[in-house]
Amino acid sequence: MSQIDDLPPLRDIVRQYELAAKKSLGQNFLFDLNLTAKIARSSGPLENVTVVEVGPGPGGLTRALLACGARHVIAIERDSRCLPILAQISGHYPGRLTVIEGDALTVDLSPYLNGDPARVVANLPYNVATPLLTGWLTTDPWPSWWESLTLMFQREVAERIVATPAEPKDYGRLGVLCGWRTYANILFDVPPSAFVPPPKVTSSIVHLAPRPAPTPARTTTLATVTQAAFGQRRKMLRQSLKSLDLSNAETDVAGMIQRAGLEETARAEEIPVDGFVRLANVYDELVRNR
Ligand code: SAM
Repeated sequence: MSQIDDLPPLRDIVRQYELAAKKSLGQNFLFDLNLTAKIARSSGPLENVTVVEVGPGPGGLTRALLACGARHVIAIERDSRCLPILAQISGHYPGRLTVIEGDALTVDLSPYLNGDPARVVANLPYNVATPLLTGWLTTDPWPSWWESLTLMFQREVAERIVATPAEPKDYGRLGVLCGWRTYANILFDVPPSAFVPPPKVTSSIVHLAPRPAPTPARTTTLATVTQAAFGQRRKMLRQSLKSLDLSNAETDVAGMIQRAGLEETARAEEIPVDGFVRLANVYDELVRNR
């Protein structure tokens, strides 16, 4: 595909606006329209869909989302140098692109969504990719405002997102959080050569669909117990969980592990997601009742 719209080629636009990529903003741009269209389509059919895009930059993926039929794209960009370029795209698709200048970590999207469900599709800035994902996975109530996440990560982060105890090297806090609330899959890899400038590592597109009814638990407590367990991942649970505060509780660490139906001698990387959820709920109960 050489052309998806009548706008000038991305390389020309970036040259015209002298948009040199800034490392501090995690800027690695995609100019290949075949690839941006493939990413846009991998989130599913886009007709009648509202899409939230983090970091549109010069708008390669934004243009693909609009050309593939998204009803409305809400794009959050921190770099004001990109705004005139995005305004040009907005003019080409009247009423279908809203650009918010701001930090995606703190921006409040509710006035823009009007209660409509939305998909998030983004080539994420790698420096804030994990905190953004964690934020989207820890909203209460659940299911969240988004109906799916289709996101570019470094391959190594993508592997941690989809990991289970079957991949003990990659399985950790992120895998537990993602496995608890979503079905997560790596869709395809993207080589460094696809980006300008090329990053050092391979990237992957990950798709996350929300589980409609994950076992209830407090996200903060789940974070506390997984931090304790994986913080000392080589140690057995009876040792690693000693950092949890059970003072004045009716049982000790061994009793808590037993109540959660787990083995004291197991290590964090052997515990499936539902084991951590039980542990979080038992810990919460012990703390509440002391
Ligand atoms: N979507 C474009 C593409 O695929 O070519 C650019 C992707 S680039 C990897 C990441 C983009 O996110 C950059 O445009 C950068 O300025 C923007 N960005 C970085 N940190 C951000 C933040 N906290 N909030 C919103 N945008 C951010």
